[in-house]
Amino acid sequence: MKVLVVEDEKKIASFIRKGLEARGFTVEVAHDGDDGYARALTRPYDALVLDIMLPGRDGLSILRNLRERKRSVPVILLTARSELNERVEGLNLGADDYLTKPFFVEELIARLHAVARRAAGTPESLLGVEDLTVNLLTREVRRGERKIELTAREFALLEQLLRAPGRVFTRVQILEQVWGCDFDPGTNVVDVYVQRLRKKIDEGETVKLIETIRGVGYRLKA
Ligand code: CA
Repeated sequence: MKVLVVEDEKKIASFIRKGLEARGFTVEVAHDGDDGYARALTRPYDALVLDIMLPGRDGLSILRNLRERKRSVPVILLTARSELNERVEGLNLGADDYLTKPFFVEELIARLHAVARRAAGTPESLLGVEDLTVNLLTREVRRGERKIELTAREFALLEQLLRAPGRVFTRVQILEQVWGCDFDPGTNVVDVYVQRLRKKIDEGETVKLIETIRGVGYRLKA
């Protein structure tokens, strides 16, 4: 689960980061409101942990602007005990939950899991083309009614293709995205994984979804 923490108090931000990372979360931290808002707007997160009092744009404006732009990413507000009005306003603006400082990181983790469960099945966590559906939160993949088991790499590869159906991805782009930068450009690992994925997704199906663009790369049928 990928979480953006927007918190200007460096000690709190680092306590949250350590706690979440120890439990397997991927964490990004923004120390001011403008940076936090820019990231939340342009990058995909499974949840936001948003402080209210921030330099630059404050937490409630970030929340309001995200909701106005139809970003439905789950938001947990961090509030001070005295910020009752802000807390109420935050919930009215579409925050999913709040925590009052100080808190135990376990409380935050429990709430993150709860908002992710609620978000599972909402349109933003579901990607698909034709009869292929992928739930990014539960990581369930189906072709029609058929459930497909994928390895982590296969899933990451499919996710990349699915985020832009019809767009052709070169082998290098796929390597960078799915394997990170540490790779041998001469490797045929992408072709091997595409073949595996194709076998699971397309074998026995009339409509083939994974297309090879000769000499360029691969794409998912739009
Ligand atoms: Ca603050």
